[in-house]
Amino acid sequence: MTAFKTGDKVVTKKPHACGCDRWTVTRVGADVKLKCDKCLKIVLLPSDKAAKAVKTVISDRVKETD
Ligand SMILES: [Zn+2]
Repeated sequence: MTAFKTGDKVVTKKPHACGCDRWTVTRVGADVKLKCDKCLKIVLLPSDKAAKAVKTVISDRVKETD
């Protein structure tokens, strides 16, 4: 089971129509809002569908390497 929270970056199994497969989670709950990192379009998915669509979660806390 894939767990993510607001602000996380995620990689989906299928890329968006624009070709980008990276998204930012902008809302979690019964529905999950994902914002495409390339074209900034927002898609709304039921949480179970979102959990299946997401391949990798990149938590913002991990990238503290500056
Ligand atoms: Zn896109």
